[in-house]
Amino acid sequence: MSSPIIAEIIAIGDELTSGFRLDTNSQWLAQQLGDLGIVVLYHSTVGDDIDANIDVFRHAFTRADVVVTTGGLGPTADDLTRQALSRAAGVKLELHEDQLEHLKTFFNRRGRTMTPSNEIQAHFPAGSVVVANPEGTAPGIELTYSSPNRETIVFCLPGVPAEMKQMFAQTLKQRLQKITGQTQTIHHHVVRCFGSGESHIESLLPDLVKRGRDPQVGITASQGIISLRLSTSADSVKDCLSKMAPTLETIHECLGDLVFGFNDETLESVVATRYIQSGQTIAIADAGMMSAPALLLKKSGAPLVAAEIAEFEVADVAKRAEEILQRTNADIGVAIGPIQRTDTIVAAGESNYVVAVMVKGDGVAKIHEFIFSGHSAIRETLANKRLLNVLRLL
Ligand code: ATP
Ligand code: MG
Repeated sequence: MSSPIIAEIIAIGDELTSGFRLDTNSQWLAQQLGDLGIVVLYHSTVGDDIDANIDVFRHAFTRADVVVTTGGLGPTADDLTRQALSRAAGVKLELHEDQLEHLKTFFNRRGRTMTPSNEIQAHFPAGSVVVANPEGTAPGIELTYSSPNRETIVFCLPGVPAEMKQMFAQTLKQRLQKITGQTQTIHHHVVRCFGSGESHIESLLPDLVKRGRDPQVGITASQGIISLRLSTSADSVKDCLSKMAPTLETIHECLGDLVFGFNDETLESVVATRYIQSGQTIAIADAGMMSAPALLLKKSGAPLVAAEIAEFEVADVAKRAEEILQRTNADIGVAIGPIQRTDTIVAAGESNYVVAVMVKGDGVAKIHEFIFSGHSAIRETLANKRLLNVLRLL
């Protein structure tokens, strides 16, 4: 195997280093580069300071084969990327007459006059290539810098996300594919699980989550949902999926019904689909969750015939599930008991809540008891998900 191509992404701008704006460009670019088989080993963020920018470029030249920057290509005094790159690479900025013409036309067509400060956008480091920006004023720059032990290809793109993405798709992608020589498609497939913790789920999987495996399996947890991300490369997406099939089978065997869906599916979308398919309707009487689970289900198009905020005691949940089922003639009656949210209980770390579910034709409601637990910021979300999970597994 040839050694991997190492990339560094550099986000430029005071608004990023000050925390005023979130750097979404780097996130997007990292995913794109990863899909091309390029290893993004570094992300740097630097403010609008010429010396700091030169320093970041010089550092990148020592450790990256591909550098992609965003921001600082505009005409204003704080846009310093072209100056920083040319100084770091030790080359002059040259005026490109055709780019100057292009800029003039751009302004004329919009009935605007070009200010002298715009002229800087027609200047490029000697030896660089212009990366076209079809819908913006600031073209991008491609420059190859040779140091004694490596060659680094630098791409500078504007900060405006729409322009940056368009230029990546139209120019950089093909350029980078040439550099990597990669013709294969990288595909990701995400398996969504609920009902157990990240480490427990990992322990159920025989050595799947280890580096260097193909398909690679990564595990992440967010708000109670455990996601297994499978990645592999092949000639087509279809081939990638066939390559993933045995791993998927192993995951299903090991995790059983902890697995609820794939990719963008959510617990509520899966529950909705399930009851639309079975033709069963749901009615919910809710004394504890302020209708949150019902709203989630409704948004996903689940067949809800009633969603009522009610007041009843824990002791009455079963009775209420039966009552709403009969009154609304639903197929599934759900009663969510009250949750005590007093500070003392939160401090003690737990409080129980009870959910009763009755299916039409069954003589009795089934009771599920949960602990209202988890970090205070996500306790309610988790409680909603546990209820949705009961409906999923019914
Ligand atoms: P312009 O010609 O518009 O000035 P530019 O290349 O100079 O382009 P910046 O001035 O650095 O780019 O940024 C332009 C705008 O793009 C910012 O105001 C911000 O809205 C957005 N932007 C810049 N960098 C990022 C980033 N890393 N992530 C998300 N948005 C960004
Ligand atoms: Mg700018």
